[in-house]
Amino acid sequence: MEIAIIAHDGKKAEMIQFLMDFKAFIISKKITLIATGTTGKNAEKAGFEVVKFLSGPYGGDAQIAARVAEGKTDMVFFFRDPLGMHPHEPDIAMLMRLCDVHDVPLATNPATAELLIKSI
Ligand code: PGA
Repeated sequence: MEIAIIAHDGKKAEMIQFLMDFKAFIISKKITLIATGTTGKNAEKAGFEVVKFLSGPYGGDAQIAARVAEGKTDMVFFFRDPLGMHPHEPDIAMLMRLCDVHDVPLATNPATAELLIKSI
């Protein structure tokens, strides 16, 4: 199972907290984590093995969107910062749209991500 993790700057701490809460589960289920660049670096620092793509504003969201379209990613945890402005808004919209096109579960906040991960 491959799960994509992406967190905007204002949500990175929440993403790491979420991952730590489910660390044993993620490792025991052999879940492959893929991530945008900076989110991935933070997760590595917290002890996770992560496949890192470009940083979000440089195309990382678009790379993950492509994996969703190709059927390679099973779930997306995308902790968006609803209070921030993002130069890569079109890429963010594309990723969310492709999750809907391909019926891939998408959690945009920790509460939803918790429900999804508990369903595995
Ligand atoms: P980042 O990208 O993990 O490289 O910060 C996330 C985003 O802004 O989409």
